[in-house]
Amino acid sequence: MKAVRGTRDLLPPETALWSRIEATAREVFARYHFGEIRTPIFEETALFARGVGEETDIVSKEMYTWEDRARAQSEKTQSLTLRPENTAGVVRAYIEHKLGESGQLQKLYYIGPQFRRERPQKGRYRQFFQIGAEVIGPPHAGSESPLRDAEVLEMLASLLDALGIEGWTLRLNSVGSATDRPAYLARLREALQPVVGQMCADCQRRAETNPLRVLDCKVPEDQPIIDALPRIADSLDAASREHFAAVCAALDAAGVPYTRDHRLVRGLDYYTRTTFEFTHGGLGAQNALLGGGRYDGLSEAIGGPKAPGIGFAIGQDRLVLTLQAQQAAASERADACVAPVGEAQNPAALALARELRRAGLRIELGDGSFRVRKSMEMADRVARSIVLLGEDELQSDVLTVKDFATAEQKKIPRAELAKHLLAARAQVEKGQ
Ligand code: AMP
Repeated sequence: MKAVRGTRDLLPPETALWSRIEATAREVFARYHFGEIRTPIFEETALFARGVGEETDIVSKEMYTWEDRARAQSEKTQSLTLRPENTAGVVRAYIEHKLGESGQLQKLYYIGPQFRRERPQKGRYRQFFQIGAEVIGPPHAGSESPLRDAEVLEMLASLLDALGIEGWTLRLNSVGSATDRPAYLARLREALQPVVGQMCADCQRRAETNPLRVLDCKVPEDQPIIDALPRIADSLDAASREHFAAVCAALDAAGVPYTRDHRLVRGLDYYTRTTFEFTHGGLGAQNALLGGGRYDGLSEAIGGPKAPGIGFAIGQDRLVLTLQAQQAAASERADACVAPVGEAQNPAALALARELRRAGLRIELGDGSFRVRKSMEMADRVARSIVLLGEDELQSDVLTVKDFATAEQKKIPRAELAKHLLAARAQVEKGQ
């Protein structure tokens, strides 16, 4: 027998990387004063239908749902579902345990498996793992503050950096509040009417059931039509516009880079105002590392008190894929590029390269007719570090070494250079 399609066994040594990711996430979350919550892996189906939304792809086609048989006369059969995401479960727990009555903001994180019947492919599984967090509380605790949105985004940027994920992009949008969204939906429906006949079958269905999702369509032929549709940004009321501007201003002040994506709406109905995704080019078609946003009406939608919130879920499987790809790319590179800064140092560079290669290192050799900047660019493509060799270095026998991953530049005595480069290689091989 084999593991069911879309599920996988995780084995050593790969599981060490999974553990390291979880340990780093816990460490970063603790620094931002989050505590861990563990909710059940299955819940009543109605929680997801009302929370995530009947018309979403998740609820309408991807849930693992069953009728749970009664075991005793006193029990009723119940429709249960393996959780397809964890925000609805966290908000249910918030309501059930009256966490809002403390008057404090609740900052909760979770790590665990989620289940969706999607078509399996690279980065998309039927059992997958999310690391997520929620900030939720009564409005008087400051749960609607744009500073919370910015804090969560800044924490994510720090977490991805701490994990060593290179080259992520933060895409940010506002989908408006419960009061200004209907105005946009009306404009969108009107604009879709004359063109929807030329769009893909999914868009034709979405235009009826969930028009916002049309903005998410990836079919190439539909793109010019979608680009010409009205933008949500033009329908936001003053309060939503100000909220979004405040999020952006706080991110600017904290130095977190982002791009505005007018079409980012996300696949779950509960989002209001801020929505975001962190993407990574190395992932291919499934390029979202994580997604999230604000959900100011979710608690009320599932029968709770007013409790605005913001949260996210990171795809742990995709973090692993990204880190493995980075590691593979790093281990194919040479350990160092020896770069003479002038033609006069060419012979000395060959001698140094010979010395390092004899110590077992993989060395690429530059040429002194390059300029330093050009040597740097060339070296960054083929090696993990560059050793600059100029007149001063030859005189003093102390070499300048720049590590491209950390951008650190160090002075290393020639006698210790091979040892230093071997240690740097061992770090990369350990995945650190
Ligand atoms: P969502 O809960 O749909 O907002 O997704 C949040 C993140 O979870 C995505 O950005 C992905 O990284 C990850 N994710 C969602 N669905 C899957 C899946 N079927 N397989 C692997 N990762 C997933």
